[in-house]
Amino acid sequence: MLGLLFIPLAGGFLSMLPGGRVVRPPGAVDERLFLELCTRCGICVKACSSEGRGTLEPCGLLDGVSMMGTPKVNPLRAPCESRYGMCEGRLPCVRSCPTGALRWIEPEEIKLGSVSWSPDRCIAVLGGECLVCAEVCPAPGAITPRNGIPVFHSNRCVGCGRCVYACPADPKALNLMPEGERRHHWDRAGFSR
Ligand code: SF4
Ligand code: SF4
Ligand code: SF4
Repeated sequence: MLGLLFIPLAGGFLSMLPGGRVVRPPGAVDERLFLELCTRCGICVKACSSEGRGTLEPCGLLDGVSMMGTPKVNPLRAPCESRYGMCEGRLPCVRSCPTGALRWIEPEEIKLGSVSWSPDRCIAVLGGECLVCAEVCPAPGAITPRNGIPVFHSNRCVGCGRCVYACPADPKALNLMPEGERRHHWDRAGFSR
């Protein structure tokens, strides 16, 4: 019983601690409210691995104490297919969340973030033949190759992480960031603002 009382108290306390920025699952509410509502139950992570692509994992200590146990997208594990893929219109992670930290979002509204490119690591820039990122990208206009080099358009990128997952450079030339992410703006009572 005491344990049940502790969970929301801990969530409220941890939300006040500074943390880094990570790419959240689709349908996440604003970060501050997210950190209060998310009980770190891990149900969305399990749903992602059993019914989705398996991209979600819990944040660790390196993400910041306040973030520990909350879900993040890791495109090195798998891309998120909330758009243009197996989870489109289904969103097992959102449907499984018992607290409202993740809420339903229409596929065309989803933007998890955008990709950042390091040309100094890119095989195409370094003289090799590679446009794997452009081949796997499902978002029209997000990557437009020019003279054999990928050109990235963050306003078209939905943040799925397919290009990061597929990039053959070692270390990877691509990184998924929360820049431009689209989040739900809800207040505690559950009303859209
Ligand atoms: S939409 Fe699918 S792949 Fe993306 S986080 Fe949710 S369950 Fe995982
Ligand atoms: S299911 Fe909801 S409350 Fe549980 S870890 Fe995922 S986001 Fe947090
Ligand atoms: S650029 Fe990469 S992260 Fe963005 S939509 Fe295309 S494959 Fe997904």
